Amino acid sequence: MEYEVVIGLEVHAEMATRTKMFCSCPVVDSTQAEPNTTVCPVCAGMPGVLPVVNKQAVEYGMKVGLALGCTINHTSLFDRKNYFYPDLPKGYQISQYEHPLASDGLLVVDTSKGEKAIRIRRAHLEEDTGKLTHVEENGQNYSLVDLNRCGVPLLEIVTEPDIRSIEEAKAYATTLRGILRALGVNSGDMEKGVIRFEANISVREAGTDVLNNRVEIKNLNSFRAMERGIAYEIDRQIKIMESGGTVAQETLGWDEANGCTYTQRSKEDAHDYRYFPEPDLPPLVVDPDWVHRVRASLPELPRARAQRYQADFGLTVADSALLVADT
Ligand code: ADP
Ligand code: MG
Ligand code: ZN
Repeated sequence: MEYEVVIGLEVHAEMATRTKMFCSCPVVDSTQAEPNTTVCPVCAGMPGVLPVVNKQAVEYGMKVGLALGCTINHTSLFDRKNYFYPDLPKGYQISQYEHPLASDGLLVVDTSKGEKAIRIRRAHLEEDTGKLTHVEENGQNYSLVDLNRCGVPLLEIVTEPDIRSIEEAKAYATTLRGILRALGVNSGDMEKGVIRFEANISVREAGTDVLNNRVEIKNLNSFRAMERGIAYEIDRQIKIMESGGTVAQETLGWDEANGCTYTQRSKEDAHDYRYFPEPDLPPLVVDPDWVHRVRASLPELPRARAQRYQADFGLTVADSALLVADT
């Protein structure tokens, strides 16, 4: 049988604002700063505190949404996504769920087979978690918690399951990163974890349009990890199908050292998070004038620049891509 891979990507991008999403703590480089030095009662999740939305983060989110051809929704809502983890002191993450800031966009990328349009389902605002460092020392295992990253603005950008190859996934990821950098909303520094990828992957018989059970690989921190993780999963899923089995819907981690995925948990559903409207924040309303001003302020994006070089200077697609590629 011939197989075809179906991929949807979720990208978490920190918004490079001066301060955090819901408090005035500065955003610092979480790989450099002294741990737990930029924390206040709001981002540490103390009882009785009140979040206040960072307007710059909303504007950055709008920039990305507009650059991706999304509709910026006049009214969006913040929700609480409830779960326990030691890097999440509140016990919930403020996110957007049914009513995101931006929806229904399109990103066109170049591949060796030509142009490919990938639909963007949504882009929503949320807050980052803290960082855990797992230590193994003198036969003892423990974890260190750093809350500096807690509450840093994050934009989650989710595609429709339109990606059909590793090459397309990579083209999407690099093109999106280039846009974020061109907009000045994210440094693109993957080693610092300011962009993280999650890949949803399923395999089906080529030529059909069923959506089979998928797995989600979490926290792919480099393009290479993303490529390797997807390749590993395609292989694993095809083997299961060839032996007559079905792929279990689950959430996987990526083991970089051993080059394989591993089960983290069976796939959680939205209802497991008990989403409910964030009672401490009013609906987020963006005035159409504001959207117009942000749209007018967008810089020329890398792909448009490459096309201009082709038209004006007769450069090839490959040469112009090289000129606008970021490092
Ligand atoms: P949620 O994460 O809220 O459950 P969805 O499951 O609808 O949302 O989609 C999450 C991501 O998984 C999206 O990027 C979507 O395109 C992708 N996706 C959904 N179904 C499949 C599938 N069968 N195969 C591959 N990717 C999928
Ligand atoms: Mg997800
Ligand atoms: Zn704070």
